[in-house]
Amino acid sequence: MTETSPMAVLRKAVDVTGIVQGVGFRPFVYRLANACGLSGFIANSPAGVSIEVEGPADRVEEFLERLPKEIPPLAKVTSLSLRDARAQGGDSFRIVSSHLGEPPKALISPDVAVCEDCLREMGNPRDRRFRYPFINCTNCGPRFTILRDIPYDRSRTSMAAFLMCAACQAEYDDPTNRRFHAQPNACWDCGPQVQLLSATGERMDVVEPIRETSRLLQQGKIVAVKGLGGFHLACDAKNEAAVDLLRERKRRVEKPFAIMVRRVEDVAHLCTLDQLSRKLLLSRERPIVLLPRKPEAGLASGVAPRNRFLGVFLPYAPLHHLLFSSGKFEALVMTSGNLREEPIAIDNVEALERLRTIADAFLVHDRDILRRCDDSVVRVSAGQTQMLRRSRGYVPVPVALESESEPILAVGGELKNTVCLVRGSEAFLSQHVGDLENPESYGFFEEAVAHFQRILEVQPKVIAHDLHPDYFSTQWAFEREGTEHISVQHHHAHIAACMAENHLEGTVIGMALDGTGYGTDGAIWGGEILIADYTVFERTAHFQYVPLPGGAAAIHEPWRIAVSYLAKHYGNDISALHLPFLKEIEPRKLNVVLQMVQREVHSPRTSSCGRLFDAVAALVGLRTKVNYEAQAAIELEMAAHDSAEEGAYLLNLIPMNSGWQIGTRSLFDWLIADIEKGASVADMSRRFHNGLVAVLVDVAEKIRAQRELSRVCLSGGCFQNVLLFESLLAALRKHQFDVYFHSEVPAGDGGLSLGQALVAAHRAKAKAKNG
Ligand SMILES: [Zn+2]
Ligand SMILES: [Zn+2]
Ligand SMILES: [Zn+2]
Repeated sequence: MTETSPMAVLRKAVDVTGIVQGVGFRPFVYRLANACGLSGFIANSPAGVSIEVEGPADRVEEFLERLPKEIPPLAKVTSLSLRDARAQGGDSFRIVSSHLGEPPKALISPDVAVCEDCLREMGNPRDRRFRYPFINCTNCGPRFTILRDIPYDRSRTSMAAFLMCAACQAEYDDPTNRRFHAQPNACWDCGPQVQLLSATGERMDVVEPIRETSRLLQQGKIVAVKGLGGFHLACDAKNEAAVDLLRERKRRVEKPFAIMVRRVEDVAHLCTLDQLSRKLLLSRERPIVLLPRKPEAGLASGVAPRNRFLGVFLPYAPLHHLLFSSGKFEALVMTSGNLREEPIAIDNVEALERLRTIADAFLVHDRDILRRCDDSVVRVSAGQTQMLRRSRGYVPVPVALESESEPILAVGGELKNTVCLVRGSEAFLSQHVGDLENPESYGFFEEAVAHFQRILEVQPKVIAHDLHPDYFSTQWAFEREGTEHISVQHHHAHIAACMAENHLEGTVIGMALDGTGYGTDGAIWGGEILIADYTVFERTAHFQYVPLPGGAAAIHEPWRIAVSYLAKHYGNDISALHLPFLKEIEPRKLNVVLQMVQREVHSPRTSSCGRLFDAVAALVGLRTKVNYEAQAAIELEMAAHDSAEEGAYLLNLIPMNSGWQIGTRSLFDWLIADIEKGASVADMSRRFHNGLVAVLVDVAEKIRAQRELSRVCLSGGCFQNVLLFESLLAALRKHQFDVYFHSEVPAGDGGLSLGQALVAAHRAKAKAKNG
């Protein structure tokens, strides 16, 4: 490359941006420069780090070649720019202390699972951090959850309360040490400590609180354990009584619990483990991974009733490893420390208050969690990672965008809320905020918005929100004075999120299938085929409307929507159909619902695909009521796995002025005939799935013929249904469509804020262009 002689002295300046602060990047560069025999310096810069190296040309070349290849595990380089500098002489390479006062734009690292080096030290009786539950280094430990402000250094984290001892300080100051500038660096002498508290909050006088906790868990007790992003409620996953008690006290019926398993080898006993899932389990993000369970696993039946999948994760905080090493259990239920759908508890006092009716004891510590952050949830489908909940370990790593935009805040939807801040060409999605139907989540929502604005140093003048006027997030947006509001239709946002994640430009066919989203006509949409770009969309096809008797109540009682479909297609005398599920319903209630449907009182119209799943699940006799969101649909999907049926219930396309309605009459005709014949639920479910796939491919074909579009984006919560997703993907590909879907960002409403932000960014740009 260079024409200079290898011996000539060169000086090069390198600017690096990305996650390069607080992740051991400067010591790494220091060691590399020394290894190459170069002089110069490295300093933190507003956007990352600045490096200058000087020495013989061949050594400088070697440095530049190795630099991007050997970066430390937590570092993430977004850009690396190189220029010539004037040689200055000098015989050493120095780490120059950072300049405060400059506007910092460097990225913040997410929390990272404890690394192998730290685990080794923690298990070594001769190490000064033997069994120390807060061991960390520049390659691991808490980041986002202890962050108060930027730039990221100890004084702006919850570690500010702990003054480093001489030994820790020496490590912190030594560029060759693994703990050089490791902000949460600590030890037994100077750092945070754990305590075991009784259910009533009294400190229990025990020498080793963690060993005692393990003993309690072994006895079948429930212990609230303070972790990285919040409290977990823990109990032995093989102890039937303990798991049942936890369900009863937490008032959580049937919704699966996640389990933390001692080692990855043990996971293989409980679940079928593919290569990618194994990699995800062991990744430094340590998400909960949904895995097909083995029936003979020996777990308590209450862990995940009626579910073929288990949510499994491995220990990630040093504290978790210590719990397992001192107890005789293979797996612990580790469920969010909350009551029902409230936000996860993070503060000791708050936890004692909120969880005292659930936990027998509390394992707490005195390092404050400043950012609530739930465990992330992923699964592998179609051979790729599918994000279901993007939180701890992933936040605040940005999603890279195709182009720059002015700062935008998008406030997300109502359920599974996240917010998104766009800065430049990066979109920062917040951690999972949760369901804003729950007033407990409002504070968390506001906190997440404020914190992201602070750490990213942007105060957007444009706020994107859902079209639904009553959502908490929409109302919150309206209350911000001096800002421009851009409302984005729910399903358009889903498709835009999918486009953004896949870096698509132009116009696509968007299939947005989910439970609920407010439509431009005021109806509840949810089975939508759109032709969309980032600015506008056309609703080309949708499922036929049916009344949703009782609105939200119908979501908890799938029989209502089943009755609504029956009344729509067969008239009000549905008892003549002799369907077994009707016998489960109180005749008086049934009549009320029939009247509601007929008169269209409290029965908004819906085209929801999620509700169609509910109706079918109720009709085939799976369940008339649900205990958690989407339970009926999930159980319907589970049932189909037992069938290899290739037949399909046909859905017909009814032409409209500008597109099609997807008619459901023939589907119900076939289904009812099958129920009369006594067909198996497995086969009926499979035929239903096959029918959906067939009609969706049919719609795509028709659109391609008319509009010459062949890129299809799949988004919305229904695509968390692996069977639907994988079969539709395969069928569309077979018909030569280019199919795009989510991986980094949830297909469900957790990804909405990203799509809202993109639509708003493009509309703002278009408006600026047109004056
Ligand atoms: Zn470490
Ligand atoms: Zn110390
Ligand atoms: Zn949605």
